[in-house]
Amino acid sequence: MVAWLKRIFPSLLLDASLVLALAFPRVCTYLKWPFLGSYLLFTWLLYKELLQNGWILTIVRDPAMRVAHGLEHATLAVLLEDGMPALHGFTHGRDRFVVALEARYGHDVAAIQDAAVQAIRRIREGERALAYQPGCGTSQIVSMASLWLVGTASPLLALALGGASSILFATGLLVFRLWLACKTSLGLLAQRRFTVSTDFTSATVVNVRETRMRATLVRPHNEVWFEVVVDVVLAASKGGLVAPGAPGFQG
Ligand SMILES: [Zn+2]
Repeated sequence: MVAWLKRIFPSLLLDASLVLALAFPRVCTYLKWPFLGSYLLFTWLLYKELLQNGWILTIVRDPAMRVAHGLEHATLAVLLEDGMPALHGFTHGRDRFVVALEARYGHDVAAIQDAAVQAIRRIREGERALAYQPGCGTSQIVSMASLWLVGTASPLLALALGGASSILFATGLLVFRLWLACKTSLGLLAQRRFTVSTDFTSATVVNVRETRMRATLVRPHNEVWFEVVVDVVLAASKGGLVAPGAPGFQG
């Protein structure tokens, strides 16, 4: 009961605000300034996030890196299913990725290798959903970009409906609710379309080793990192064997 109340509380709060906005339109006149300030701050944060995530442009054009990215997600999913304290991962090459676990996990390389092998086998057997993860960096970027669009569209919509502050507030809340309902699906759709691929004929785990630093990232003291190197043969339409190279990284 308590968990259920906690879950629906944000929705109730939004709905109550919507009713208040329509019942007391004068209050909304003052709310447009914090709204504008938050919008400008968020625009700046999104700009910074996009600058820091140039890897998206690399990975979109590289089918091999998209496959490695999918294997990273799937390996993390298998580790979590097995009860391992997996935290996150990143793909920093066309044939390799890193999975990060809590430091208390220790140094069991064999278990990571086993998870990567299982991940490959399960995707090849048709369990493609394993390669798509809501916590991925792609989803975070898409979430922020779509929320920015919501913030931009709401005042325009309000203007079209008459421009009153109460209307601005009410349309903003409605579009925000719509965004909340869609953001996970939007992120997964972006992964499917742009940054993750499961189109490979075969994949073999070549090597797994513990690492402290990869690309420009340095391991925090409370994590343990394992680099997984894979040999992937892409599906015929994507062409050829995968050679190492094209550095980049992502979560
Ligand atoms: Zn990811």
